[in-house]
Amino acid sequence: MADYFYTPVLSKPDHVAEIPDLVDKHGITSFKLRLHTKAGEHIWDIWHTMKVKAMHYYHDGMVYSAMKAIAKLGPPAILCMHCENWEIAYVRRAELMAQGRQDPAAWDDMSPPFCEAGHIRTYSYYAKVTGCPILIRHTTCEESFEEILKARAEGVNITGNTNPHYLTIDKNIWRTNVPHRDPATLPKIWDAIKNGVIDTISSDSIYRAMSLETIEKWEKEHGPIAEVGAKYPHPIFAGAGEISRDAMAGRTEGLLYIMLSEGVNKGRISLERLVQVCCENPARKFGIFPKKGLIAVGSDADFTVVDLEKNMKLTRDHVFNSNGWSIWEGRQIKGWPVMTILRGNVMMDWPDGEAKRRIVGKPIGRYLARRLGDQADLLD
Ligand SMILES: [Zn+2]
Repeated sequence: MADYFYTPVLSKPDHVAEIPDLVDKHGITSFKLRLHTKAGEHIWDIWHTMKVKAMHYYHDGMVYSAMKAIAKLGPPAILCMHCENWEIAYVRRAELMAQGRQDPAAWDDMSPPFCEAGHIRTYSYYAKVTGCPILIRHTTCEESFEEILKARAEGVNITGNTNPHYLTIDKNIWRTNVPHRDPATLPKIWDAIKNGVIDTISSDSIYRAMSLETIEKWEKEHGPIAEVGAKYPHPIFAGAGEISRDAMAGRTEGLLYIMLSEGVNKGRISLERLVQVCCENPARKFGIFPKKGLIAVGSDADFTVVDLEKNMKLTRDHVFNSNGWSIWEGRQIKGWPVMTILRGNVMMDWPDGEAKRRIVGKPIGRYLARRLGDQADLLD
């Protein structure tokens, strides 16, 4: 239903050796390091999937090699990084468990802002040494913004990124990685978008999330998730059985209406800034501009028509993701996408008077192979 490209995760040294082939044979120019998984088997009891997927321990030598290999490619090659020091978080987790902490905010206390900012400081320095362009995924706090600005001042090619859930959900309500932060931090993330520290917004949506069945079972006992949510006390570090985790699905479909409703219509950012950070800048950074991210002759005819006045409470009925529920249920959303057009084809529309949007297009999404040398990395 959409055009797409891949950003593969490098999780062991063999993967670095595959970079030239990924570029030549598959048109891949972006790569990701999940730096929190560096800790390897120490975190497997928390993230069992990493054991299943054989996400092995890796070290800074691999990070260095990856940066050198990506720098050598030239634009638009870029390294995305999940910055969160879980070698420290793991130690703090044991302390918090010993204290008997069960509140949702314990997840933030386990992996506080310095764990995120510390990685940015360290790896932006190595990016400077190697000349590797980097994009810091899902930044959430002032400490990180300061490190991004410092790195930029030193000449590092560094892009800031965040996601709508960090802008709208605080640490007392839900958990994810990196953690949601203090309520007082949320306006500061909006400011970072407005003042240019954060250049790009993405969804961080992934397929894995709790099923509707799990949610409905929980709701029978405790009440609607939209009203009670994760404020209900529960063993946050226990793993199975808890409710406040894996609200990953539905973030792609939520991205634009959250940015319109909470950002533009509440006066936090302009509509023009929304288009820059959600559309133009990601296209430039990932080597698909001006085919994507621009309205011009010769670019793809991709458009989203929005109705800034459309005002409706988000219910489960509006949700299209396969899990069937959304972390933003119950919110009053003012400003909705009402038509999506992919290369001239209407994929989604919302006729006047209808209760919700509908998917009308056929699946015509194409893979976007990228090429070295394509214009990419010139933010105005
Ligand atoms: Zn990440």
